[in-house]
Amino acid sequence: MVSTIQVLPKEVVHLITAGEVIDSLAAVVRELVENSLDAGATRIVVSIWPEQWRVRVADNGCGMNLEDLQRAASAHSTSKIHSCADLWKITSLGFRGEALHSLTTLAELEILSRPSPVISAQFTGGTRVVYGYGGQILHQQAAAIAPGTVVTVSNLFGSCIARRQGLPAIAQQMKAVQATIYQIALCHPQVAWQVWQNDREWFNISPAGTMGKLLPQLIQQVRPGDLQELQIELSSSPQHSLNIVVGLPDRCHRHRPDWVRVAVNGRMVKAPELEQTILGAFHRTLPRDRYPVCCLHLLISPDQINWNRNPAKTEIYLNDLSYWQKQVSQAIEQALRLNSDTIQEAVHTSRVGKLIKVAEESGAYNINPSSPSEDTSTSHTLKAVGQVNNTYIVAEHPGGLWLVEQHIAHERILYEQLCDRWQIVPIEPPIILYQLSSLQVSQLQRLGLDIEPFGEQLWAIRSIPAMLQQRNDCADAILELSRGGDLQTAQVAVACRSAIRNGTPLSLPEMQQILDDWQRTRNPRTCPHGRPIFLSLEESSLARFFRRHWVIGKSHGI
Ligand code: ADP
Ligand code: MG
Repeated sequence: MVSTIQVLPKEVVHLITAGEVIDSLAAVVRELVENSLDAGATRIVVSIWPEQWRVRVADNGCGMNLEDLQRAASAHSTSKIHSCADLWKITSLGFRGEALHSLTTLAELEILSRPSPVISAQFTGGTRVVYGYGGQILHQQAAAIAPGTVVTVSNLFGSCIARRQGLPAIAQQMKAVQATIYQIALCHPQVAWQVWQNDREWFNISPAGTMGKLLPQLIQQVRPGDLQELQIELSSSPQHSLNIVVGLPDRCHRHRPDWVRVAVNGRMVKAPELEQTILGAFHRTLPRDRYPVCCLHLLISPDQINWNRNPAKTEIYLNDLSYWQKQVSQAIEQALRLNSDTIQEAVHTSRVGKLIKVAEESGAYNINPSSPSEDTSTSHTLKAVGQVNNTYIVAEHPGGLWLVEQHIAHERILYEQLCDRWQIVPIEPPIILYQLSSLQVSQLQRLGLDIEPFGEQLWAIRSIPAMLQQRNDCADAILELSRGGDLQTAQVAVACRSAIRNGTPLSLPEMQQILDDWQRTRNPRTCPHGRPIFLSLEESSLARFFRRHWVIGKSHGI
């Protein structure tokens, strides 16, 4: 791109949502860092001196020549779009040409820049420019600087102290700065970040290949093995793709939905509809009042998006929202299922780590890779080999062994069957219940049960959920259902009651049946109450524990 900054024509300016976007230190950081990313930077150093209301962002991006520097802070001057038609082709983070200009009205602005040799054929040195109110140049001189740009904003809101007073305490503002950088970093995982506060290094973010590889740097309790990442190219357009990182529900969840995030074309956005879709896809996989970790990044052809919903560009209008919702649910469903890949991947959870207290470094021993000719369907990937304490099924697979708790695995199977097919069947003779309140009666009717008075304080139940038919504690189950909750709660209760109890001995074929059915469920990792169903002991960890990389065999002739 030949970067020439131009002033936007009036008709374009009228189409852009006008409004003040610089309202905090975090907003300054956001605007400057977005400019660095638009300039193609791969290293960004952010320095903040909050007490001085000063922010500096240095990057190794394309830089600006003298001409561009002279125009950069004028009103509506941008190199990113030039005409109305360009508004439907936006691929950059900025396009309004307003940020630097408004900074000159709110603070002192200085830019050092030197064009990168790739952009400018002839050698151009660096220049330092100090801008005055409105963007005119106060001072300009040659400066020694590596290719790239260093923007310094000082004394923010110095001429309007009331705006400082309206802001929260410094500590909170710095939290907002960190959150801003985290959000942007997640959308641009290839960038290296260094962040300084008051001349001390505050935090770093190392570049990573993908959003999923970067995320464990940002959430302390999350390890790489807790996440499943998918990259899906969509057939609707060559420009459409979906990248999603899903926290596996048996490994991580949060007490707030603070890591349910949606990004579109390089920017985090508020997308309540898509966030609801994500939460819905995790329904009945997490413990009560817990929320998933799930970051979604959609790449959408720019003509499908209108960024002009608000000036900070955090809200958008998306064409064909329901199409995207469907793609997101399908992607999460795919990420949560067990397949031969996820079964065999040697992920090492912290709990297992503690369990076998690995003392040796990893990687010294190669596990037997499973033969590639193996059946790729999931059935029989796990082979039942025994039962422990009449409670855990021991399952073997090429990558190690799993312990599966029989009751909750069965509960998951039954729950999904009930959701797919909630069947009420007639029974003869009816079940007679005693002393039901009118609330209980209407609750049972709401669930679809056939119930009628049967004399003084007595009720006859003439139809019940099919799954309860064979049970001799059926009356207790109906009483439990009558005590409230929606259909889903009732389904969980019925599944729980009907599932094989712990302590029940099982034959090998019975265990295998449970394993096969369970592997085919949509959400095999947790039961409908959010408890983890299995514990994996990977072959690689077992090999480390038993020191199988020691070369004893040779010297001892074993
Ligand atoms: P916008 O980003 O909407 O174009 P800005 O006021 O933020 O508007 O920036 C104006 C112009 O200054 C940009 O279009 C870009 O050409 C140039 N610019 C700003 N920051 C940088 C930077 N870090 N590296 C290279 N060019 C920059
Ligand atoms: Mg900008």
